[in-house]
Amino acid sequence: MIMGHEAAGIIENMGKNVKDFERGDRVCFDSTVYCNRCEPCQKGYYNRCESRQVLGVSTPDFKRQGAFAEYVAVPWWIASKIPDHLSFTHASLLEPTSIGMHAANRAPVSANDTVVIIGAGTIGLFILRASRLKGAGKVIVSDINEFRLDAAKKLGADVVVNPVKSDLKETIFGETKNKGVDVTFEAVGYAKTFQDAISVTKTGGHIIAVGNLEKTAEFNLQELVARELTFRGSYASSGEFRDCIELVASGKINVEPLISDVLPLEDGPRAFDRLLKAEENLLKIVLEP
Ligand SMILES: [Zn+2]
Repeated sequence: MIMGHEAAGIIENMGKNVKDFERGDRVCFDSTVYCNRCEPCQKGYYNRCESRQVLGVSTPDFKRQGAFAEYVAVPWWIASKIPDHLSFTHASLLEPTSIGMHAANRAPVSANDTVVIIGAGTIGLFILRASRLKGAGKVIVSDINEFRLDAAKKLGADVVVNPVKSDLKETIFGETKNKGVDVTFEAVGYAKTFQDAISVTKTGGHIIAVGNLEKTAEFNLQELVARELTFRGSYASSGEFRDCIELVASGKINVEPLISDVLPLEDGPRAFDRLLKAEENLLKIVLEP
């Protein structure tokens, strides 16, 4: 299985019916290969495509070879040209940027809403940027890793919490006049962090589930019912990818702080070893074929 679904490159060749592109165009593409014909696709919900495939993902239903390669073939309708001044390294982060943007769009984040993001991995950090762009008021980020909390601060978090060091609910209630936040993004996906998400969200608030590391999570049903919480899942993106080109190219979303290293493609296995060992503080490693 060739992994990789966050990529950018140059068009080397294309099918004879492709009209809007030329050889040599600099492009990037969505990670979801959608059919563009089914009902969800027609409505613009590309991430819900009935016959979607995801680049570099081995799940049997979605399997498609990915982009850690010199060449990758994708349908023209998932590709977009990128401006000349946008580097391929930065463009390769358009896809995770769009995941964060989609999550923020799944929530009714409006001006001055308080937001908490549980999990400051790269997706959590992109949700942070997207929430800021949507005009969120106070943005609180929680993670057990100090390096990631530091990155969150650099990317505009107002408050960061390490729940190992201080009580998450107490801190968040202290920051929100004992009400809890309007919107919580759960970007980890453990039962515990999902329960945390419920406990820090105010009555009538919204919880957007982005992470899913554990298959099941128990929670008090009465919290959902009696506090009229709204739960929503957020999966991949549905068109935000193209909006993100301008946001990243203009620097409104600065992806540079998320890039820990840039290595040649052949160093891929070593890059994975480093990420797996987790001895260093790493966010994204970009591979250059
Ligand atoms: Zn479709």
